[in-house]
Amino acid sequence: MATLLVSDPIFLEHLVPPGHPERPDRLRAIDRALSDEAFAALERRAAPAAGSEETLAFAHDQRYIALIRDNVPAQGFTRLDADTTLSPKSYVAATRAAAAAVMAVDAVMGGSVTNAFCATRPPGHHAEPTQAMGFCLFANAVIAARHAQRAHGVGRVAIVDFDVHHGNGTQACVWSDPTILYASTHQMPLYPGTGAASERGVGNVFNVPLAPGAGGVEFTEALTSVILPGVVTFAPELIIISAGFDAHWRDPLASLNFEEEDYALATRMLMDVADRHAGSRIISLLEGGYDLQSLADSVAAHVKTLMSV
Ligand SMILES: [Zn+2]
Repeated sequence: MATLLVSDPIFLEHLVPPGHPERPDRLRAIDRALSDEAFAALERRAAPAAGSEETLAFAHDQRYIALIRDNVPAQGFTRLDADTTLSPKSYVAATRAAAAAVMAVDAVMGGSVTNAFCATRPPGHHAEPTQAMGFCLFANAVIAARHAQRAHGVGRVAIVDFDVHHGNGTQACVWSDPTILYASTHQMPLYPGTGAASERGVGNVFNVPLAPGAGGVEFTEALTSVILPGVVTFAPELIIISAGFDAHWRDPLASLNFEEEDYALATRMLMDVADRHAGSRIISLLEGGYDLQSLADSVAAHVKTLMSV
């Protein structure tokens, strides 16, 4: 069965101030990489034409959703925090990014594809229930997980996050929810400052902070010693990957030393767990990754592995 790729020109229309790393060119680089004939077998779909505030409310309160919607500028930018801004199309792009994740869940749960990658922006894992942060507006992974539960009767969902930054937003959303596991590798110390191993939620949170300079060996060790055993014990029916590629050695925002092959290996290990426990079902959502070449190469390695079912 196929791998689904969800992408859409709307995600280029979430604009950011000059010099901002989370820029539309990220998706153009990914699009170029996935245009190679090696990816001809991907099932490609555009994002749904509109997002749904009802699904955003799976992770956010109504006042926060309204605040984002109502603060979109007619032109220029609205600044939400030091590094998170709204442009005229940001609300539409962000709601359609969440809708893309929901659509990917529907496709994978419906059995028409084995797994899915959503090349969307803005990213989501820093967005808290009532707070935009770190380039993120809506917690796409949490919205996808709760949609799987409500629309498809899924019991347990595991979210595995290998972005170099800790997904404080995802963690905050699921902190007291024993039906969703959140597991993260990330550099520490680094923005946003959360993600200590002692942060365990209700036993559903697994954080493995990595020291600056750590590379593929430490990443694999974190997966095999803590994260995968936690996921296996949890026995999820669906795995969601918060796929950020900013732990790559070329990335300008952090100091880990992952390579493309490390992302391919991690993807394969998560697929093996999904094969055994989750009917092979995986949804992968783009988070960070700011060096265009390493982002494109790493996404290509990740998606090529997802296609090798
Ligand atoms: Zn990141």
